[in-house]
Amino acid sequence: MKPYPSQARPWVQILFLLVVVFIGARFYLFVSSIEKGVIPDFERPAGVEAFLPIGALVSLKHLLYTGTINRIHPSGLVLFLMIIFTAVFAKKGFCSWVCPVGTLSEYLYKGRTFLFQKHFKMPALPDFLLRALKYVIAGFFVYQIFYRMPIEGIEQFIQSPYNRFADINMLKFFTRMSATTFVVLMSLFVLSILFRHFWCRYLCPYGALLGLVGLLSLGKIHRDPSHCTDCGKCEKKCPGMIPIRQKTIVHSLECSACLTCIESCPEKGALKFTYYAGRSSLPAAIMALGFILFFSSGITLAIVSDTWQNEIPTQAYVNYAVSMNRKLNSIDRMDGMDPEKMQKMILMMKRLQEQKAGMQDSQQEKGD
Ligand code: SF4
Ligand code: SF4
Repeated sequence: MKPYPSQARPWVQILFLLVVVFIGARFYLFVSSIEKGVIPDFERPAGVEAFLPIGALVSLKHLLYTGTINRIHPSGLVLFLMIIFTAVFAKKGFCSWVCPVGTLSEYLYKGRTFLFQKHFKMPALPDFLLRALKYVIAGFFVYQIFYRMPIEGIEQFIQSPYNRFADINMLKFFTRMSATTFVVLMSLFVLSILFRHFWCRYLCPYGALLGLVGLLSLGKIHRDPSHCTDCGKCEKKCPGMIPIRQKTIVHSLECSACLTCIESCPEKGALKFTYYAGRSSLPAAIMALGFILFFSSGITLAIVSDTWQNEIPTQAYVNYAVSMNRKLNSIDRMDGMDPEKMQKMILMMKRLQEQKAGMQDSQQEKGD
């Protein structure tokens, strides 16, 4: 078997995508059940916390200050640290081998050929400015959490209902989508079809952090000018749009170690992904196996060491989900109401509140 990414990478992407779909479906069933007040006979899938990166950053600060992993979203922190750690060995390899958003983005762009063949290219200046945007977004969160938030605020945030049930809120964000969210998601969908890796290249703060940590990566693409014929095939295929021919070592923040350049290069030995100059290229099959083993053994270790499942009782999830569902349903009912009726109802509720407050005051006065 040729150790090329065209064979290895899609399989790894599909594997991780299936895992994420499985987690998402199970979490959906979990929330559907608790909303009805029924405790399901299976556990909440802790892997869902991978989609709570802000909570993970807060947990990281908590870990640095206290030396302990908070028990609200431990798997979120474990996964965050593991993802960031991959950059030390494989640059932004997480984006091109594991991340489900990266996978969807890649195949949406590839799928555009069913509609049109044209390749849209962002002009150089907007491309540069937009690429900077993801660092601004990541920098904003890092600054707010690590510089602006005092440690007491960190503790409060971790214990707040918003953070405790952030996974449910996230699910509701998608299942009860507002018109604005829908428009934003559809715009991202269309932009991802038009421009290669639109989300990953311009907006993803995770990708920004991985790119920066990836500067430390020992593994890099090396080009041997004595073998290179300057054909440009590698650059044409590179999803990071990196000018590979101008380099002997690719240090770029955008390199996702996808190894596509090596696959598309017709000259044997011209391109290598290697940890030491002069050594042979790391086969894509080894990279694939590395990602699978790294994540499966890391998660197993977290489960065994009891840093995977959180300590929020399922009954607390039930209480939160039931009350949230009630609130959302009453908002839905009000949405369909005619404005005059709604105003009357709000006035009535106000009067009732005033009456209640008046009664409480008079009871207090009697007591005094
Ligand atoms: S330089 Fe090669 S490995 Fe890096 S992103 Fe481009 S094609 Fe992928
Ligand atoms: S595809 Fe290979 S030979 Fe062609 S420019 Fe890139 S490194 Fe050189």
